[in-house]
Amino acid sequence: MEKKDFVVTGGAGYIGGHLVDSLVEAGNTISIDNMSSGKYANGRASGIKCDLRDEKKVSSLDIPEGSLIFHLAANPDVRESMKRIIEHYGNDVTSTLNVLELARKKDSEKVIFASTSAVYGDAKTPTPEDSKMDPISNYGLFKSIGEGMVSFYSRTYGIKTCILRFANVVGGRASHGIVPDFVKKLEKDESELEILGDGRQRKSYVYIDDVVRALLLAIRIEESNAVLNVGNTDTVSVEDIAQIIEGNMGIKPKHHYINRYKGRGWPGDVKEMLLDIRKISKLGWKPSMGSEGAILAAAKDMLQNR
Ligand code: NAD
Repeated sequence: MEKKDFVVTGGAGYIGGHLVDSLVEAGNTISIDNMSSGKYANGRASGIKCDLRDEKKVSSLDIPEGSLIFHLAANPDVRESMKRIIEHYGNDVTSTLNVLELARKKDSEKVIFASTSAVYGDAKTPTPEDSKMDPISNYGLFKSIGEGMVSFYSRTYGIKTCILRFANVVGGRASHGIVPDFVKKLEKDESELEILGDGRQRKSYVYIDDVVRALLLAIRIEESNAVLNVGNTDTVSVEDIAQIIEGNMGIKPKHHYINRYKGRGWPGDVKEMLLDIRKISKLGWKPSMGSEGAILAAAKDMLQNR
């Protein structure tokens, strides 16, 4: 890879931290984060503490002209987005606008935006990129607004952009999501596991290293404002995930279901998610393992990192 200046917002977070680890090999890397949930720091990257909701602070950020910006900072908690709406709006929408303005002023080479399968809502599966965005959570709604702003900046100011819509990302240093949730619960009480919903929710999971590969691929994509799904070719149910993790831990707890929302885990939870990944596959990206393999690898990573 040619030497560049990289900026990663949300660089102290889960995906951002893994991305920073790869980018430091290729160029000058700056991580920007308000450290609200992320705590990771790679000693070879410069770290700037900044709340991206603060327009004044963002506009005075000292990043090199022409930097390539990965905008990953957000609050990815779907459940919380249905409760603390204004706070999520700030982190997901206001921050995105401030980052786009920074990109415009600094003549950024490209902005790569981390979006989500949640923009599609309860869509027909497998869901291609040209499906209607019909989110059922504030998180999905705010990301769809973010995508709209990214596309606007691309059309209006000629900034190169790329939007990646991730399925559920697992593995590595993940601290949130279904795998850490189940492992933590089972470490507390290995006789019983509480499952939110009816356990039949089926979704696609993609391993963290594959997601980092997709983010790196996005640097080279020529299409202006490309939109790409990043996921898997299969799904796995919540019940299956529980069994994979339990098998790995060598335990057999009883399952206890909290099923208040017609099979969903919580309001805004999409019951079935499978992204059509043919577009990114044609560009040479393929997941290195299926959803089940990704869950198993993630469970092993988590138990090993303890
Ligand atoms: P994360 O919570 O681990 O990382 C997000 C980081 O952003 C955190 O370090 C946090 O401190 C920072 N942040 C939040 N608000 C900020 C603000 N106002 N100013 C500065 N920093 C702020 O999340 P993640 O799982 O690494 O997700 C990264 C991106 O990928 C997010 O945009 C998320 O929506 C998207 N995404 C994640 C998944 C997944 O399964 N993890 C799936 C689809 C999309």
